[in-house]
Amino acid sequence: MPTAATTRAPETATFDAVIVGAGFAGMYMLHTLRQLGFTARVYEGGGGVGGTWYWNRFPGARCDIESLQYSYSFSDELQQEWEWTEKYAPQTEILEYANHVADRFDLRRDIRFDTRVTKAGYDDGAKRWTVETNRGDRVTAQFCIMALGCLSAANKPDFPGLADYTGPVYHTGEWPHDGVDFTGLRVGVIGTGSSAIQSIPLIAKQAKSLTVFQRTAAYTVPAWNEKLDPDYVRNVKADYPALRAKARARPTGFYFKFNTKPALEDSAEGRERQYEEFWSRGGLPFLGAYGDLLFEKDANDTVADFARAKIRGIVKDPKVAEKLCPDNVFGCKRLCVDTGYYETYNQPHVTLVDIAKTGIERFTETGVVANGSEYELDAVVCATGFAAMTGSFDRIAITGRDGLTLKKKWEAGPRTYLGLASVGFPNLFMLTGPGSPSVLASLVQAIEQHVDWVADCIAHMRDVGAASIEPTLADEDAWVEHVNEVAQVSLRSTCSSWYVGANIPGRPRVFMPYIGGFPIYVNKCNEIMDAGYEGFVLDGAAETNTPPRIRLTERWHVPLDMDVISPAALAAKRVPVV
Ligand code: NAP
Repeated sequence: MPTAATTRAPETATFDAVIVGAGFAGMYMLHTLRQLGFTARVYEGGGGVGGTWYWNRFPGARCDIESLQYSYSFSDELQQEWEWTEKYAPQTEILEYANHVADRFDLRRDIRFDTRVTKAGYDDGAKRWTVETNRGDRVTAQFCIMALGCLSAANKPDFPGLADYTGPVYHTGEWPHDGVDFTGLRVGVIGTGSSAIQSIPLIAKQAKSLTVFQRTAAYTVPAWNEKLDPDYVRNVKADYPALRAKARARPTGFYFKFNTKPALEDSAEGRERQYEEFWSRGGLPFLGAYGDLLFEKDANDTVADFARAKIRGIVKDPKVAEKLCPDNVFGCKRLCVDTGYYETYNQPHVTLVDIAKTGIERFTETGVVANGSEYELDAVVCATGFAAMTGSFDRIAITGRDGLTLKKKWEAGPRTYLGLASVGFPNLFMLTGPGSPSVLASLVQAIEQHVDWVADCIAHMRDVGAASIEPTLADEDAWVEHVNEVAQVSLRSTCSSWYVGANIPGRPRVFMPYIGGFPIYVNKCNEIMDAGYEGFVLDGAAETNTPPRIRLTERWHVPLDMDVISPAALAAKRVPVV
């Protein structure tokens, strides 16, 4: 894999667009802009493409949406030629896929790797952005497109005494590229979210002893990962567009079988059968067992009880099992998907330390102190997550019109129109930004829909000669209010998760992704485009009345013919969202 960490002269060029990030969003954005005849420069902090999948190389990392859906749909040739080997692809294969895409569409020549954007400032007179990097680049572009990733800024808590600790400390989101050999070591893992739950069973296989420090117990459902059956793959590929269309019509942007019936209308025996059946299918679709699980606390209690019974059935030591049983709403924090997680605690060399009350007290030279006891550790893994959704924006000094900084504007929580743009920051687009379905949808689909919309918008601006685009304050305010209102309908807004920024002290508590469902959101974006970018002001356009020519967004028109995704169904609290 090429890394361009070589010396290169800083550049001072002009482009139509600067794209920040070469993950799945940045790569596809570059491809579409090029297809439409625009020039673009991509800056990427990593040494290669792939974003999340470039950085998160921890043992066991794999997607939790089926590989055949967790992939680009924009090119039928691409989806036909690529062979996924497992139901849930491992990180190595997803990264290989990202590299294949970069090569196949000749993307690398416009990407500068090992380069972090440090500043982006808007010049209202020139209607252009000036973007600066840590390698001395200073370029200008009409558009600045943030393809930063929703879970990219690692949360590295400043534990007391951390500097005194003499062993290595790893963060799952910044894993060493050569891997880590834990053989014969006493290892500590801090955190029990998805990254921990995927890595713990594999770290336990190598380590001499493993101590897991758990602040909040998490719910996890078995993945039942398996090699993909060639006949199944052949069938999907025979009519891939049909699967993609069904996926787009789902609230989550990916297809799985679900049931809209309310749990509370079923008998106790019926529920048990239903949960068993969905447990045996495994993964995130488990939440589709009933339509009301994320809306009615009483319904949620039934599924939480079922999950706790599963834990007690698997974990042999009743005290350990109790510690592993979460007492919060099932699926309120992002549901985890595992292979052998609970079983790991039956191994004699694995210890679970409940730090709910005291947290990690401190590090010492040789280990970690928690609950008044010192644990001697040769290596520590921080599976402590990310400053989600907005953390990667915070790392760049973004200054819009009249010196307004994005950090200041988002002090009390992110404010966007459609999660795509923000008042005061003309010509700045965000891909899967806060206020869009993003992390609540299958991310690759959410990315493609945003890229297509932004590319169409930029092409329209060229058609009509517009110099800048910016949302109106009234429309942004209304969208923010709508995002908040919809969030209140769901139990998801009730717990301290990274969805609301509550995983990190001091961050504002706001439900950041749009929970109204992918198709409803997509159709809203399309309506806005069809109405000539309603809610946006296009400045300097020669022909303001020219109807937008839709080039790419067309494929995202979703027929709202399914009861389950209508606004009425949402209001009636019958929309399984995972
Ligand atoms: P996470 O879900 O935020 O989990 C972080 C864990 O670290 C939590 O258990 C948290 O406890 C704990 N923690 C954080 N700060 C701590 C502190 N100061 N002291 C002690 N414990 C602390 O992060 P993640 O596991 O990296 O996952 C983030 C998201 O990435 C997932 O929800 C998912 O969307 C995505 N992801 C997906 C996969 C996949 O299956 N494809 C794999 C990995 C990640 P609290 O719960 O108490 O905050």
